[in-house]
Amino acid sequence: MDDGLTVRELVRQTADALGSAHEARWVCEVATSLDGAEFDDAMDDPVTVKMVAHCDAMVARARAGEPLAYVLGRWSFRHIDLAVDRRVLIPRPETEVVAGAAIELAAAVDGPRMIADLGTGSGAIGLSAATELPVRGTTVWLTDVREDALAVARANLAGIGRAAANVRIGIGSWFEALPNDQCFDVIVSNPPYVAVGSPELDESVRIWEPEVALFAGHDGLGAIRALIAGAPAHLCTGGWLVLEIGADQGRAVAAMFHDAGYVDVEIRHDLTGHDRIAIGRVTSG
Ligand code: GLN
Repeated sequence: MDDGLTVRELVRQTADALGSAHEARWVCEVATSLDGAEFDDAMDDPVTVKMVAHCDAMVARARAGEPLAYVLGRWSFRHIDLAVDRRVLIPRPETEVVAGAAIELAAAVDGPRMIADLGTGSGAIGLSAATELPVRGTTVWLTDVREDALAVARANLAGIGRAAANVRIGIGSWFEALPNDQCFDVIVSNPPYVAVGSPELDESVRIWEPEVALFAGHDGLGAIRALIAGAPAHLCTGGWLVLEIGADQGRAVAAMFHDAGYVDVEIRHDLTGHDRIAIGRVTSG
């Protein structure tokens, strides 16, 4: 007990400290280990000293500029709630659209479908695919070059229930992590695509998020180039490569897809109208 402080009062104090009622609610949900209706029902309950201490610690981190997703240790992405920390990129709304495109293409595959999410980080894209596609006939590979990122993906895998049985994890750089004797219907990735030294990158992103997940050479296209070059050897005939790209990379990436022999190449927008998704398919695997 903390002097009879209630959850409602804790939320009010936290909202004052953070200047945001939404953020205060999320922080207090994590501090009390309650969410949704359970949290609403607990408004008049007393909070414990431990809850207040946890809340204060989170408020201090947020006020010091740490992104709220890292402070909370979780963030929502499409239909799932992901554990996140500084080992992985914070899941972003634009990546939800990338995942949606990959899921839509995979859903159209007849019979058993094979999907790979390369450079999965928290597992956001691949775990969404695993949970949103039919449990029957779906296999999703999550890969990352870093074991520390895969530890986060594994923790999130444990949280998706039954669909987890359809997920495989591979460690390695891009295609090195995939089995060589299987072709994939959809290969999707949110690779690093920021140019080293780019002035466009948010200060908070630069300070807090993992460099390896952001930067890809002098033009930001290094990883995208490797993915476009390597995917055909791992795609089934008619299989799709779906990539998240930078807002100013649409034209260059579309040309790279065409030059590499992909067909049905398309650049799609994110929710703010920026070029964000590059899609193409191979006619022979
Ligand atoms: N969209 C991110 C940003 O600019 C970059 C993510 C990435 O490189 N995959 O903040």
